[in-house]
Amino acid sequence: SPRIGVLALQGDVREHVRMLVGIGAEALPVRRSSELEAVHGLVVPGGESTAMIRLLRSFDLLGPLRAAVAGGLPVLGTCAGLILLADRIVGGEDGQEGIGGLDVTVRRNAFGRQIDSFDADLDVPVLGPEPVRAAFIRGPVIEETGSGVEVLASLPDGRAVAVRQGPLIGLSFHPEITGEDRFHRLLRDVVRG
Ligand code: GLN
Repeated sequence: SPRIGVLALQGDVREHVRMLVGIGAEALPVRRSSELEAVHGLVVPGGESTAMIRLLRSFDLLGPLRAAVAGGLPVLGTCAGLILLADRIVGGEDGQEGIGGLDVTVRRNAFGRQIDSFDADLDVPVLGPEPVRAAFIRGPVIEETGSGVEVLASLPDGRAVAVRQGPLIGLSFHPEITGEDRFHRLLRDVVRG
């Protein structure tokens, strides 16, 4: 079975491990570069992107992760994980720079105060007719997408909340909280090739 890592420095690691095990993948928490080298795909979970970037630096993982993404590692980033995958981050700390690789601009904490956490049913054609129940928790808004980026889902107001570019998938929301496993399956299928 495909071995898929979950970046385990901070955030909701356990829920993603459970999802991966549930779809028959082998799940491995990743905290060091040797563990990163042992996986064929990676989930970057939600949490707090500024804290995660700080930890990535102190664990000497930022360079290896950038190299892995540049080398084609399939990655699913949710919420803070999407922020880390984004090539451009606005509303972050000055000069906040994550892993990158996904040609999008994201704005942190931009859904507005009253609705900074909400659930929504999303139409995601690549996953089939059944809508996705999505939990948004102070998630990032995707403000711009490059020409190579496919929008997988949008809110009714037109804002993109799920994107894909090659082996990289980015979500503004948390699928693992609502028990939605189809994005993890998508990642697993990319890993299998
Ligand atoms: N607000 C967080 C950030 O900016 C993301 C929240 C989340 O991952 N649920 O990093």
